[in-house]
Amino acid sequence: MKQHTYFISDLHLDESRPGVLLFFHRFLDAIEPSASALYILGDFFEAWIGDDAAAPWQNEIAERLERLSQSGCDIFLMHGNRDFLLGDDFAKRCGGTLLPDPYVTDIYGRKVVLLHGDSLCTDDVRYQKFRSLTRDQAWQRTVLARPVEDRLKLAAQLRTMSQADNSTKAQDIMDVNAAAVAGCFDRTDCDVMIHGHTHRPALHATPGDGATPRLRYVLGDWHEHMHYIRANEDGIRLLRLSPDHLAKSAGDL
Ligand code: MN
Repeated sequence: MKQHTYFISDLHLDESRPGVLLFFHRFLDAIEPSASALYILGDFFEAWIGDDAAAPWQNEIAERLERLSQSGCDIFLMHGNRDFLLGDDFAKRCGGTLLPDPYVTDIYGRKVVLLHGDSLCTDDVRYQKFRSLTRDQAWQRTVLARPVEDRLKLAAQLRTMSQADNSTKAQDIMDVNAAAVAGCFDRTDCDVMIHGHTHRPALHATPGDGATPRLRYVLGDWHEHMHYIRANEDGIRLLRLSPDHLAKSAGDL
């Protein structure tokens, strides 16, 4: 019976890390019997240079997700700061829908706001400038019109720049800004928020307007463990799996 909604983010899937790719396929096999929806909240891929340049292993992922959707699981994708060029075409091939960021939805009767999370890191002024540029439609059209080789070079450049930049930044600058989080709760009128990006998996509770606290679930990346959220009638849980555990588990994650 399909009874769970799953959330994941920051898998940073890349050809150079076949182990994570394998875990992801196993994860999908394990959740397939019970998943009524799967939300992939950005940085699914380490890099994305356009739907027309998808590699064979990326097309395999699309086919696998499409099969999952055929089993009765709704699939939703959101952009991250790595795969912001992922388009509707690829989402469709996954049997999924590309969501705007932020996106407000109903999860088992609770109003929840979903984000990748990078928009909340407002202390990182330089990154926010980069974000505005790369989310600009005209900039994206110009980039996507360039030959694949050029785009590969640009992606490599951006990655090097980002790594060099991040290595000199203070850790707290790269975390969310408390006022940005509060503002997002206010604007969306939600008490629950789910995002990734910071690779700091945790559940944060802060006082809300009324008696209900505001809950912020932060998904983790998939470098050492697989972090995911499972929501159902009983509530929302942030969970962590080791590769060993996933290999042994017989479904129902
Ligand atoms: Mn990110």
